[in-house]
Amino acid sequence: MPVLKSTLLSLSRNRRLRQILETSRLGHRLSSRFVAGISLEEALAAVAGVNAQGMAATLDHLGENVERLEQAEAAADAAAASLNAIAARGLHCNLSLKLTQLGLDLGEAVAARLLLQVASVAYRHGNGVRVDMESSAYTDATLRIVEQTHAQGFPVGTVLQASLYRSAADLQRLREKGITVRLVKGAYLEPASLAWPRKPDVDASFDQLMEQMLQPGGSMPAGPLRHALATHDPQRLQRAQMFATAMGIGPRQLEFQMLYGIRRDLQRELAEAGWPVRIYIPYGAEWFPYFMRRLAERPANLLFLMRNLFSA
Ligand SMILES: Cc1cc2nc3c(=O)[nH]c(=O)nc-3n(C[C@H](O)[C@H](O)[C@H](O)COP(=O)(O)OP(=O)(O)OC[C@H]3O[C@@H](n4cnc5c(N)ncnc54)[C@H](O)[C@@H]3O)c2cc1C
Repeated sequence: MPVLKSTLLSLSRNRRLRQILETSRLGHRLSSRFVAGISLEEALAAVAGVNAQGMAATLDHLGENVERLEQAEAAADAAAASLNAIAARGLHCNLSLKLTQLGLDLGEAVAARLLLQVASVAYRHGNGVRVDMESSAYTDATLRIVEQTHAQGFPVGTVLQASLYRSAADLQRLREKGITVRLVKGAYLEPASLAWPRKPDVDASFDQLMEQMLQPGGSMPAGPLRHALATHDPQRLQRAQMFATAMGIGPRQLEFQMLYGIRRDLQRELAEAGWPVRIYIPYGAEWFPYFMRRLAERPANLLFLMRNLFSA
């Protein structure tokens, strides 16, 4: 993995830098490139804007690795409130969340209980919850909790990372259970014992998993969530569209997902080609780790950061 990328990902865990940036005006200005705002109201306005362009959204109230039960419970309450607001305004939007935000570091039982609480609100509204995938330290626990919650009849799906060697086996099991998957490349720093260190191998793995995901067979996912391919990589997108079309897979079975503020041209192209597109809209005061992962993905983003620093 290139040095710059791993340095930025290591810095994403630096508490001091996080505190300085999250509380500064300059930090807010920088984060607005990838983050829709601090308040739910700002995020809902971004959702409405995306909906007006014919695309759906998934809302992520930023936050991860909480250390106290009250924080986890507050995150679950905020998630429930955002589901209520989405329903009240008739927006086309579901929810994405991280289990470490719901207290996974405090124990699996805490995160499982709070996910059930949020998923039951989603169920009442006919909506769904996508559980983001965090670093490999959490993969087993995340999948266990998602599978348990889904088995109880709640509308949850999750994410698999093409960078991890294990993902083909996880995908097979989730497909058998009818659990929808968002396939991504993977945004975390991982050891070579668990993940492909070279980008071309991650890309090849993404293509293989995409084909595995879209093969006939497996339980047909029912409910509000669909299988999703989440990438801004034009080559991956082209292969996926060709494969899906060849397999006779239509818009009701698959959607494409991209991040707020990234490759709006591709978002529009896919939507104009008739594919369902969902935009991942993050918001909230705790934006630093998310922001650093976005910087790490593309070195050119550092130029934008530098320009802003010098013009401030
Ligand atoms: C909807 C969605 C949800 C996600 N959820 C998760 C998750 O739960 N867990 C997880 O580990 N990862 C998640 N990711 C992140 C993902 O793993 C990748 O890190 C990220 O999408 C960048 O990879 P890429 O597939 O776009 O391909 P890349 O090869 O990295 O990028 C392809 C092209 O996309 C553009 N691009 C990509 N990233 C950026 C950026 N940050 N800034 C500007 N341009 C960029 C560039 O033009 C680049 O050339 C998610 C991504 C999306 C789109």
